[in-house]
Amino acid sequence: MSTAPPLIRGYEVVIGLETHAQLSTQSKIFSGASTSFGAAPNTQACAVDLALPGTLPVMNRAAVERAIRLGLAVGAKIAPLSIFARKNYFYPDLPKGYQISQYEIPVVQGGTVSFLLGEQRKTVRLTRAHLEEDAGKSLHEDYQGQTGIDLNRAGTPLLEIVTEPDMRSAAEAVEYAKALHALVTWLGICDGNMQEGSFRCDANVSVRRPGAPFGTRREIKNLNSFRFMQQAIEFEIHWQIDQIEDGLAIEQATVLFNPDTGETRAMRSKEDAHDYRYFPDPDLPPLVIAPEWIERVRSELPELPEAMAARFQRDDGLPAYDAAMVTQSLPFARYYEAARQACGEPKLVANWLMGELSRRLNTEGREIDASPVPAITLATLIRRIVDGTISNNAARQVFDALWGGESTDVDALIEAKGLKQMNDSGALEKIVDEVVGANPKSVEEYRAGKDKAFNALVGQVMKASRGKANPAQVNELLKKRLG
Ligand code: ADP
Ligand code: MG
Repeated sequence: MSTAPPLIRGYEVVIGLETHAQLSTQSKIFSGASTSFGAAPNTQACAVDLALPGTLPVMNRAAVERAIRLGLAVGAKIAPLSIFARKNYFYPDLPKGYQISQYEIPVVQGGTVSFLLGEQRKTVRLTRAHLEEDAGKSLHEDYQGQTGIDLNRAGTPLLEIVTEPDMRSAAEAVEYAKALHALVTWLGICDGNMQEGSFRCDANVSVRRPGAPFGTRREIKNLNSFRFMQQAIEFEIHWQIDQIEDGLAIEQATVLFNPDTGETRAMRSKEDAHDYRYFPDPDLPPLVIAPEWIERVRSELPELPEAMAARFQRDDGLPAYDAAMVTQSLPFARYYEAARQACGEPKLVANWLMGELSRRLNTEGREIDASPVPAITLATLIRRIVDGTISNNAARQVFDALWGGESTDVDALIEAKGLKQMNDSGALEKIVDEVVGANPKSVEEYRAGKDKAFNALVGQVMKASRGKANPAQVNELLKKRLG
């Protein structure tokens, strides 16, 4: 860490994140039932998921393989042997009375995730990532005042990814979560759909005076949007500081964020591990992962975001910041590469991606896959700027028209809107002559050394050309004409 962590009201914030990533397997982690989302309640829960007596869990290879992929991508150790444990608690949506998870020996151990926070590169250490099954869902619908239980989600494979308490602000926690989200979707191990709960985070938050030992943490459960995460952590920080300033102690607790009020509220005092009476699950043998399996998965890994960013810096000459931005997700990187290949202008493509395109995507809450302006079309637009057909300003107008669906043809739009720059130097020279003739005062002032007068003349020529003259060319012609 190169700079001192930011303080809020004189306190340092400490955050550790636990993320549940739902693994994108066809079937559940210990049964053959389907994992697809949105089916009618209890149509995708088989005897194993319902915990009928006599049923036994069978480990799903595809889930293990996804855990290995993540472990390799974050530089973690893949445990050659890991153990499934029973985490015992009573809840209506957990028919077995325990959740199968990993406790003492998780499948993925250590590793790091790094990302940009502003212009600064941050690295967060991972403690572990372990495989576990999801629980069912209680449906508190107003059905004769009753609560229903849907066990479709029971047994869905999860990878719980736990960090060290390394983050020092809400913004840093959000950037970490975004980087992890980008990574799991990049690896194809999780669909990343936050609305459907495929990627949800618990944020452990504490505050302390700089240099003091870690404070007591409270854990905000189930944050399923980056915006909520930011709001919840910020509220929690101020709540904890208020408590301490009032002379009260923070009690370890599990809290929920209410998006309607923007507040966090204690749900239960936090259980300790011993409350769960963890013990190895006698129904499942140890999970043994042979070195050959790990090497096979390693050989099939795609190029990772950091490696790709390094390549864009090296081969395309992109600045580090731009390279990180265009590799913020796989679809983004694919878009960048397609556009760059088509127009050969890496820096301009990056500028448009980070500027106009991101702005439009953000305001409309769209993903880049759903951009109304495809990479090839953006490349054509950039080519028209580079070859002098249109100015940057005109390009923005064309982009707006493309975005709005007026047409998908860049050249047709340039034509229809009369945005072509005047590159015919004969016609332009004529305008320059006219402007020089009509503005003797400015010419005199320019010759007397006033730069402002020159700019005024450029402005007159641009105006006379109705904005279609190429400003660089106007500059050149005027300088020549004025000697
Ligand atoms: P538990 O087993 O009770 O869930 P862990 O020790 O596994 O607790 O920690 C859970 C998460 O809380 C981890 O991400 C860890 O980094 C984070 N954490 C631990 N101590 C603190 C603290 N004092 N402040 C903020 N986060 C913390
Ligand atoms: Mg935990």
